[in-house]
Amino acid sequence: MGFFNKLKEGAGKAADLAKETVEVTRLNTQISAKKREIEKSHNRIGELIFSAFQQNDLSVAEGQVTTVCQEIVTLQHDILLLELKIKEVRNEKSCVCGKTITFNAKFCPSCGHQFVTDSE
Ligand SMILES: [Zn+2]
Repeated sequence: MGFFNKLKEGAGKAADLAKETVEVTRLNTQISAKKREIEKSHNRIGELIFSAFQQNDLSVAEGQVTTVCQEIVTLQHDILLLELKIKEVRNEKSCVCGKTITFNAKFCPSCGHQFVTDSE
């Protein structure tokens, strides 16, 4: 009995881990796509400013450059949220010191920061 239960538990853990890996891969793909969009936006800003330079008036680029910059800020925010989701899936959280630690940790093993538990 004990043996079979252990076997079942092991299989369950392996399945969880596989699911976790698939989810993390999916989120990382989304992050990469957004990073490519940011790169494109950076190029776009360069084009807009150069075009304005050729017209001898950099101010003509301001409106469009501002729009593209705002898009980049949104993309960066999306990436942060996706990175947070990856931590959630992996059952991890970030400490104020920048270390990634297990979600249930009450203290940071690196800096000693104490976490106030809000879900118990
Ligand atoms: Zn810490």
